[in-house]
Amino acid sequence: MHKAGFINIIGKPNAGKSTLMNALVGEKMSIITPKAQTTRHRIIGIVNHDDFQMVFSDTPGIIKPKYGLHERMMDFVKSSMHDADVMVLVVDLKDPNPELEEIADKLVHRNCPLIILLNKVDAVQTAVITEQVDVYSKLFKPDALFPISALMKANLEPVMMQILNYLPDSPPFFDKEELTDKPERFFIAEIIREKIFLNYKKEIPYSTEVVIESFKEEKNILRIAANILVERKSQKPIVIGRGGEKLKRVGTHSREDIEAFLGKKVFLELYVKVVEDWRNKDSHLKNFGYRQ
Ligand code: GDP
Ligand code: MG
Repeated sequence: MHKAGFINIIGKPNAGKSTLMNALVGEKMSIITPKAQTTRHRIIGIVNHDDFQMVFSDTPGIIKPKYGLHERMMDFVKSSMHDADVMVLVVDLKDPNPELEEIADKLVHRNCPLIILLNKVDAVQTAVITEQVDVYSKLFKPDALFPISALMKANLEPVMMQILNYLPDSPPFFDKEELTDKPERFFIAEIIREKIFLNYKKEIPYSTEVVIESFKEEKNILRIAANILVERKSQKPIVIGRGGEKLKRVGTHSREDIEAFLGKKVFLELYVKVVEDWRNKDSHLKNFGYRQ
């Protein structure tokens, strides 16, 4: 009998959702940075075997809506509550304070199995783990709970076994050769966005969006041009940096990762464009793919 289903990973920003998904799926598919809130999209990774297919989605962190963009992110989180066969809640043991009561109630009244993963066991003392196992077991009454380290890939085997155990009998949902439902361009934009998060401070990363303008396959090289959109005129020189140095660094680091990701030589051009207040403009959000 073949098993297949949707596993939705939720949790606070920075809990380790993307790291976990990458460890489970085995490919660098969603971006990981030390800063919160970088995963804005719903990304799907698929684990295929002869007799099962696990479809993972890495939803943005559970956050309170502040801007239009945040509301869109909450929509993804909410919709993931509905179409999941298994929910996985990732908890950061380094920052476990469950101000999660507001969602706890929803999760207790869930209609699918809930697995809680207490992540980052490598970074805390055993006493913290024991204590939080107790707190989360009582608060959420999960179907299963595992202390893990997504980063060290520790204790992930039993997690996979448990997920498989909960998957319904079903034919596969996606072609077994397929690894993801997002096109290459999406990952290229995500890689550039990751470098922006790593290279600028404060509000810059949260005020930018990356749009791939052109994508041309030539004989030995792939030519990519991308726009970095900023919200205000004053942000443009910050992104470019003195003598263009900052933007150059973002470009070089992005190109290296894109080449590694695609296994191809890449020529990357980056431009900075001002689109005032893009975060609050519905039409812009639509263009960037946050709405169908
Ligand atoms: P997300 O916002 O939930 O997707 O979190 P990320 O996967 O982007 O991870 C946030 C930060 O936590 C990154 O710096 C990761 O390297 C780190 N991290 C994730 N898992 C672990 C872990 O098991 N141990 C430790 N020490 N750090 C981790
Ligand atoms: Mg993430």
